[in-house]
Amino acid sequence: MTIENVLENLPDLEAGWVWLAGAGPGDVGLLSLLTLKGMQQADIVIYDALVNQEILDLVGKNTVLEFAGKRGGRPSLKQADISERLVVHAKAGKKVLRLKGGDPFVFGRGGEEARRLVMSDIPFRVIPGITAGIGGLAYAGIPVTDRHTNSAVTFLTGHGEDGGLSKDIDWDALAKSSPVIVVYMALSRVELMCQQFLDSGRRPDEAIAIISKATTSEQRVLETTLACAAEDVKRAKLEAPAMIVLGENVKLRSGLDWLGAMKGKILTADLSDIVPQGQK
Ligand code: SAH
Repeated sequence: MTIENVLENLPDLEAGWVWLAGAGPGDVGLLSLLTLKGMQQADIVIYDALVNQEILDLVGKNTVLEFAGKRGGRPSLKQADISERLVVHAKAGKKVLRLKGGDPFVFGRGGEEARRLVMSDIPFRVIPGITAGIGGLAYAGIPVTDRHTNSAVTFLTGHGEDGGLSKDIDWDALAKSSPVIVVYMALSRVELMCQQFLDSGRRPDEAIAIISKATTSEQRVLETTLACAAEDVKRAKLEAPAMIVLGENVKLRSGLDWLGAMKGKILTADLSDIVPQGQK
């Protein structure tokens, strides 16, 4: 089978339908075939700020691009307005692709948009994408799980109410039960977040990594400790979007930073530095 055959055999984006698709974390190579097909067939692609130009360049010749995110002072659409745009275009018989960074159902409000479509009887398909909290870590050489370090992981958002952290989370229980914690949208709250983890009993010398612009050509990774993270992030002037990962798995990077290896870093398969799970 050729790639053309494969694409042809995938479902078509039909008139009056909305596909809620994930674009992945940045690298165009991480786009799924279904998302690519939808982008080429769509009459309109409504995309958000996390989707980069290289990916947007792949839309069909006659596809209209509509921006629905927050960026660079341009007025941003409210969530209800974005959902409404999807409904209006679908009702007008357009083939609509809603393109979101990462995975649409991971801190992406994909569920809210889909529910709005259900309310208006608009048929839709959801196309998962590679989420930054997994794929972004992989590009930093950090496995989200590893038998030696963690058999559980928690994903959470750094954005809570009133500029603080979420009050819905039992922070002490989380700190105790989750060996690895991966935080989205945390760059502006690093200090608060780290203090919370310390207050909840995590070790000050615990490994933490901050991954900025993961999977893009501007990816930067800062490895530090929980106690030093807030200071180090400021000093390094890391930019959004960024992920934070706290846990012993961060140390595996010394052996798995495959991107670093391409630039000459020597990898070591030595695990002696790792505190095996269950032995803290
Ligand atoms: N749906 C997206 C997440 C949207 S929330 C997903 O599944 O990845 C936005 C947050 O995602 C950002 O604040 C940042 O924490 C994270 N993020 C998205 N893309 C990223 C990237 N390329 N590098 C680092 N973090 C990223």
